[in-house]
Order: sequence, then C-alpha cells, then structure tokens
Amino acid sequence: MSFHFFHVINGHLNVEDIPLAVLVERFGTPLYVYSRAALTHAYQAYARACAGRNARIHYAVKANSNLAVLNVFARLGAGFDIVSGGELARVHAAGGRADQIVFSGVGKQKDEMRAALRANMCCFNVESIPELHRLNEIAAETGMCARIALRVNPDIDARTHPYIATGLKTDKFGIAFDNARAAAHTAAALSHLNLVGLACHIGSQITTTAPYLEALDKMLALIDTIEAAGVALSHLDIGGGLGIHYHAEGDADAEPLPEIGAFVSTLLDYVEQRGHAQRTLLFEPGRSLVGNAGVLLTRIEYLKQNGEKRFAIVDAAMNDLARPAMYRAYHEITPVVQRDGLTPVLYDVVGPVCESSDWLGRNRPLAVQPGDLLAVHGAGAYSFAMSSNYNTRPRAAEVMVDGTQAYLIRERETVKQLFAGEACLPIKN
Ligand SMILES: *Cc1c(COP(=O)(O)O)cnc(C)c1O
Repeated sequence: MSFHFFHVINGHLNVEDIPLAVLVERFGTPLYVYSRAALTHAYQAYARACAGRNARIHYAVKANSNLAVLNVFARLGAGFDIVSGGELARVHAAGGRADQIVFSGVGKQKDEMRAALRANMCCFNVESIPELHRLNEIAAETGMCARIALRVNPDIDARTHPYIATGLKTDKFGIAFDNARAAAHTAAALSHLNLVGLACHIGSQITTTAPYLEALDKMLALIDTIEAAGVALSHLDIGGGLGIHYHAEGDADAEPLPEIGAFVSTLLDYVEQRGHAQRTLLFEPGRSLVGNAGVLLTRIEYLKQNGEKRFAIVDAAMNDLARPAMYRAYHEITPVVQRDGLTPVLYDVVGPVCESSDWLGRNRPLAVQPGDLLAVHGAGAYSFAMSSNYNTRPRAAEVMVDGTQAYLIRERETVKQLFAGEACLPIKN
C-alpha cells in the first residue's frame, strides 16, 4: 500500500515525518489531515510543465477551500478558479491575487458579479446568453468593462461518473457548441464586455488524455471560426478534471493515470502543433492538486455482524465524506497502526448517520479491533469541502502537516455553533 507522502514505517502510517496516530492524540477524530509537501509536489508538477510555455494554472477552489490550502497555492504563484462570491472572499483572505482569478459557474448572482468586478478579477467564464446580458448591465452600472471568456460545452464524453461529467450536451454547463459562434458575436457587440477567450471543462476524475485532445480539437477549430469573423481571442481555458489515485499505487485496480507533467506537456504540444502557440492555455486543476494530499482519520466504535455481513462502525460518516454515498466512490481504507497476528476479514465500513447510504467502504479486508484508527485515503478533494452537519454532527477538524510540524487549520465545530443562528417562536400561549 502506498500513497505519496503517506507511508507505513514499522507498522505505523505516517504523513511526511509524523505518525498519524500522534495527530489523533492531539486533535481527536474524525480528523482531516493534509500534507503541505504533497500539495507543493502536485502544484510543482503543473508549474514545471508550464514553465516557459504560454500557460497558467488556476486552482479550482471548490475542491478544497481551506484558507491554509489556498495560501500554500497562492505562495507558489497559483491563480484561482472560483464559483461563488464566497470563494472570492476566501481567496482574498488567503492572500491570493484577484487579477489571477477566473470566475466560473452557471448561476452567478448580481452581487457576486459586482464584487468580482470591484476586485478587478482576471476573467468571467460566462455560461449563457442571459448571463452575458446581466453581466453587461452590471458592468455598465459600475462603469467598468468585464473581461470574459465563453464557457462552451464541447459535447465530449469524458468517460467518468455521470454526476461528474460536465461536457455533454445534456449537462447544464456552458453554451452549446453549435450556439457558441452566435454567442461570441452577441458578446462582442455588448459595450461593457471584452471577450478575450473561450473556456470548457469536460468533467472530473478523468484518467486519460484522449478526451482532452478531443476537446482541444473542437475548441481550437471554434476559435479559428470566431477569429475569422474578426474577434481576437487570447486564451483557451481547458478546465480541470485530471484524476487521482483512489486505489493505492501498485494495486491491480489502481487508476492508469498520466503523470501531471506529461499530461500538461501533451496538451501544450498539441496546441502548438495546431498552430496556436500564441494562445495562452489555462488549466483549472482541483482534484489533481489536493486529492492525494489528504486523508480522513476515523476511529472504530464497534464491530458487529448481521447474518453474514460484518460492519466496522466508525465515528466518521457521510456528512464528513459524502463521495461514497453520492457517487459510490471508492476510497482506499487502511489501518493507522497495523496489527500483527490477526487475520483480515471483510467489513463494510459505515458511519453512525441514519441512512443506508452512510458507508465509506464496502467489503474491505481489515485486521482490526474496536478502538482502532482507520485512514480513508484520497480525501483531500471534494471531501471536507462537501461535508455537512446532517444529524447535527459538528464538522471535523482539519490539520496541515509541514515536515515535523502539524498545524490546526480549522477547529472542530461545536454542537452549540450548529444551532447558534436558530430561534424558537416567541411564546404567546
Ligand atoms: C470543478 C471544476 C474544476 C476542477 O475540476 P477537478 O476535477 O477538481 O480538477 C475546474 N473548472 C471548473 C469550471 C469546475 O467546475
């Protein structure tokens, strides 16, 4: 079993130079732990491949929006991809540069547009004709000109889970490919918009380069058509979506992923070969920057058997990590401290929430006892970020490790905080 930066030493699972069991003693469970070295390693793989090329990296904030994570990337020089005014505020609070932000999303509200314009953000990725008109009005109101790219739906099958495929024409995202030319003309005619590029995003947890080349093919051809009609486009935003390992490297089921560097170079080379070397290519990676940099630690409360089925009931649940319940997603689960002399048996690893979909893993061979700690791997992306308070469960604490140091980057919520904004009706009788 191996995931970069999370490795077993003498039977103890470590992150960088710290045993995870030590972090649990200090911070309790359930606990999210991220490795700064892993974040940096993934970012540098993108940055190295982009160095000297016409390319920029915009971290997709929604994957993991903790301020400490954003700050690590901001210091490394990343730009950001946001989908809400809330994320804009987070990037600002974490020291990210506004002029390196692109703003995606199908439902941008007027206040969010105003805030983004005031911040002098890099680019709005506009997803519909009504949004073009709304943005033009808001920009006119503030006396500004909004830099925009059109998010086009290239109708590419990214061959991933239907809930995380975004580039098919049945998806809600972007402007239909066949309507993009007309939309570009509409945009060019609106006086408070400055159309500077095109964007697409075909899905998530994509494990091959082929769908990206298909998308590039269509998008570059579209750029040529639009430019032939007299609208100059300086950039193409190819979105995010590169996958990560949810199965340990070396497993038979391990995802056959391209290396980040090779992936980026292949795309940039392709753009060059197609005669678009002058065009800036924007990448919006989320999962591939943070996914393998985090684990969720949880403690086994009970082991129980119902008929043939054995359950390991743990103190983390679907409210902490929704991906298995939402997408039937697989996450590798391993003991934090290995036990000798115990034969592994198959368990469903489940949480205390009152839903049958509340599971973290099914049929997992584990040699464990009640009280043991488990690590749920690949929990750096869409994990804490999607957590909720269902069943009035306070959200987990988050810790970032940097070498031999561990820092609390989000306090565990208290029950009191969860209903602090609620009120009973005034009593009349
Ligand atoms: C979610 C999203 C991303 C990031 O996707 P990953 O699969 O996490 O890399 C990038 N761009 C847009 C527009 C998105 O919606």
